[in-house]
Amino acid sequence: MSQPIAILGRGQLGWMLQRAGERIGAEIQLLDPQAPEMPTPDTLITVESEHWPDNEGTRALRQHAGWQNAKTLDTLPNRIDQKTLLDQLQLATAPWCRPQESDSAADLHATLGPDFLLKSARGGYDGRGQCRVKAHENTALPNWKTNAIAESAIAFDTEVSLVGARSRDGHCVFYHLTENLHTQGVLTFSINQPQRFAALQPTAEAMLGKLMTHLDYVGVMAMECFLVGDKLLINELAPRVHNSGHWTQQGASICQFEMHLRALLGWPMPQPDETGTTVMVNLLGMEHQPQWLAVPGASLYWYHKTCRPGRKMGHINLQHPQTEMVAKWLRELALPEDYQPMREWALQRLASL
Ligand code: AMP
Repeated sequence: MSQPIAILGRGQLGWMLQRAGERIGAEIQLLDPQAPEMPTPDTLITVESEHWPDNEGTRALRQHAGWQNAKTLDTLPNRIDQKTLLDQLQLATAPWCRPQESDSAADLHATLGPDFLLKSARGGYDGRGQCRVKAHENTALPNWKTNAIAESAIAFDTEVSLVGARSRDGHCVFYHLTENLHTQGVLTFSINQPQRFAALQPTAEAMLGKLMTHLDYVGVMAMECFLVGDKLLINELAPRVHNSGHWTQQGASICQFEMHLRALLGWPMPQPDETGTTVMVNLLGMEHQPQWLAVPGASLYWYHKTCRPGRKMGHINLQHPQTEMVAKWLRELALPEDYQPMREWALQRLASL
């Protein structure tokens, strides 16, 4: 039997890691972050999220011999440390600074331009813990400004992400760059067409490869970027499986969840085969609809969570070797009215290649 793996977190990422692991014969245990059990000494411990509650149980896990990626998990969850690392490695990111107590919005505008974002150092994700400050709006700075980064708003052409994995002996594999649409800070659509960003792929791989190697990281990491012309600016790094990699469940011969576990266990990590076009639709704040399954190509993943506005309730992958078939299925999918502009965006992207 393989070395057991414990995953801190019982959300959808933990669940999908567990499912992928069980299929390939890994032994997976999910740990409740509120009161985690202590795994056996030979267990490898990984996380579904880089943010977890600080309690006696999680502090004890951090001391367990099998705790993975300690250096990364001590650095990346704090935006100040993450940005400092990117600067140190000379990896391009949105211009930023650390606001001082005496800084007014005008002082920060002088450094960062007429439009910037304050992002709390810790805990913020999916657009939470953020506030946008535009010069003409006279926004008062929040009282948490000194425990935050201030970052220029980027007029990007589009957003892309790269998901990669590194083994303990330094072997890296990468999926193709994925194009992402965020709506109010939350991912709504991902599109993967291996050929779309072929020219950028080597640069993106070199950037994420440099980071994973520097951190001596093991497992899957995601790099979210703004694309401006032909320049990639790193927005954020996620030391874990990532929502923008969910398309790999249908679009790649080895999905990101399986790849993460293979990396941890030292199991083979060949380059996954990716063909055709995949679209991932996040199902936000909506109830389950069996009607989705009327679309022949719809692969539904439902997270069994209580419905709340904007909450990630599930996702659907549409994958086919022919892009036109994916577009047809996307048109047929029963989605709420407010998804219409996003669906149009995706259809236009599919039609443009
Ligand atoms: P984050 O939680 O930092 O990943 O931000 C979520 C989303 O907000 C990003 O994917 C972008 O769509 C938007 N966003 C974040 N930072 C910036 C920025 N500096 N300039 C423009 N848009 C941003």
